[in-house]
Amino acid sequence: MASDNNMDDFSTDAILLRKIEYGDHDLIITFLTRDKGKISVMAKNAKKSVRRFSGAMDLFSVNHIQCAFPKKNRTAMINLCQTVLENGFSHIRYDVVNTAYASYWMEIVTQWLEEGKAQPDIFELLFTALEMVDDGFIRTEVISLLFQIRFMRLSGFSPGLDQCDACRTNLEDVHLTRFWFDFKAGRIVCPECRGSERFARESAGPFGGSARGCWVSKGTLKQLSWINTVEMSRADRIKFSPVAIREGETLLESFIPFYIGRHFNSLKFLQKMRSEI
Ligand SMILES: [Zn+2]
Repeated sequence: MASDNNMDDFSTDAILLRKIEYGDHDLIITFLTRDKGKISVMAKNAKKSVRRFSGAMDLFSVNHIQCAFPKKNRTAMINLCQTVLENGFSHIRYDVVNTAYASYWMEIVTQWLEEGKAQPDIFELLFTALEMVDDGFIRTEVISLLFQIRFMRLSGFSPGLDQCDACRTNLEDVHLTRFWFDFKAGRIVCPECRGSERFARESAGPFGGSARGCWVSKGTLKQLSWINTVEMSRADRIKFSPVAIREGETLLESFIPFYIGRHFNSLKFLQKMRSEI
């Protein structure tokens, strides 16, 4: 039935996560879409067809895309029929460090999200984070902390930053200034518990707790919790001290690759760029 075919076609807003050349003329493109989550599509003759694919189809650009499911071979890839560029984020693109941050976020989303599972809240988060960098009112380092911690919560692997994983004392009630963040557990442990015999016995690492982790100050943990839950419209009030930015970066940029179980080339590049500023 003709109506079935029409139902198989769809259009949606989409952020370009990854672009791979396929043969001489085609591209395989991975998008995060508003309606259908992460999808990979075949763009036939993309390198020649300027008319069908407006804009350069660059990484992290936002496009309105039209797609068609394959009519005969149901296991074949979705076809990308047309794209219209909605936002190329030129202020990000002309800054190498901002581009490095955005590329890192694209790689996290590409590596972690399941194909074809609609996650509109993650689309909104990524879109808003890109807009915030493009606007330039908030430091990109801080937007990156906000993106990473919220992405983890929305994808269901939030780190536990509000109480000691061993004695369950709330952060507010512990009169100590530093906590150990254990990558394997994904939770904080107070210094007293980390030094205790029981914790050392129950954990695999040679120093009590798993060997993989980092020290974080209480102030940084409170700020990370705040940006995790604050209304996005109030995000412009975020004030991070240089120490909190550095500690937040160490925690999140170590924990995310550890949790996902792979190294990110984009993160290596970002950290190299940052060290050279
Ligand atoms: Zn404790």
